[in-house]
Amino acid sequence: MTSLDRRSVLRVAASAVATGALGSGCAPAGTDSPAVRTPGAPRSGRPSAPDSARPGGVPSAPAHAARPPTRVPGMPVQIEHGPRDGHAVALTFHGRGDPRTATALLDEAERAGARVTVLAIGDWLDEQPAMARRILDGGHELGNHTMHHRNICALPADAAYAEISRCAERLRTLTGTIGSWFRPSQAQRATDLVTRLARKAGYPHVLSYDVDSLDASDPGAPAVRRTVLDRVRPGSIVSLHLGHAGTVAALPPILDGLHRRGLRAVTTTELVT
Ligand SMILES: [Zn+2]
Repeated sequence: MTSLDRRSVLRVAASAVATGALGSGCAPAGTDSPAVRTPGAPRSGRPSAPDSARPGGVPSAPAHAARPPTRVPGMPVQIEHGPRDGHAVALTFHGRGDPRTATALLDEAERAGARVTVLAIGDWLDEQPAMARRILDGGHELGNHTMHHRNICALPADAAYAEISRCAERLRTLTGTIGSWFRPSQAQRATDLVTRLARKAGYPHVLSYDVDSLDASDPGAPAVRRTVLDRVRPGSIVSLHLGHAGTVAALPPILDGLHRRGLRAVTTTELVT
C-alpha cells in the first residue's frame, strides 16, 4: 500500500467512525441488536499474529490476496447449501463488530482447525481495515456483505448497485480482489434484481444459507449452540455474526458437536467445489 493509499484509508476510516456507523444483522430488519462490546484485550493473542492485525491497526501492505469470485459449475446462481452427501459444512459470518470479539472468534475457529467465511460490511472495513488481513491470514475466506447493510432488496437499482460495488472497491483496495462471495444484507435470499446487480459487479453467485443461528439477537451461547446443532446437516451453510460474545462462546461446542457427527467446518469454496 502506498502512503497515499494509507492516508486515504485512514481518512475513510475516520469518516466512518465520525458518523457512528453501526449496524443490524443479516436477517430482515428488527431481528438484530447492536454488536456486543467485549471489554479488554482478546483472550489469547497468537504469538505469530502481526502487529497490523491488532484492533485499530492499519495493514502495512495489502492483505494476502483474497480468492476472486468464480462460477461453480453445477451450483445454482443463489447458493443455499453444498453437497448433502459430503462431510462438510460452512460457517458464514456477517462481518461487523468489535474487532476484539471478531478476533476472539477467529482464534477459537483456528484452535479447532476450522475455517470460516466472513462477509464483511464495507463501513466496517473502513473502520477496521486490519481485519481483512487478519481474516485471510487465518486461512479464512472473505466476501462482500454490502457497504452499509441496508435492506438491499428494497432499494432502487442504482442505490443497490452502489451498496454492492462500493464494498467491492473496499475489498479490492485492501486485499487485491473483490472477495470470494457476495451476500445480500437484511435478506436471506436476493431478489432477481439484486442477483443481476451482483453479477454485474462481478459475483457469479449469491451466497444464501440454509441454517439461521439466530445469534444476532444475543439469545446466549447455549441457545446458539442448540439452534445450530439442531438444524445443521451435511452441506449446510450456517449464518452467524461476528462481534457477538455469545457467538464466540458458542463456537467451541458447535465445532465439537459437528466433529462428533463427522462434519468439518470449511470455507464456502471448499464446501461447494
Ligand atoms: Zn448481515
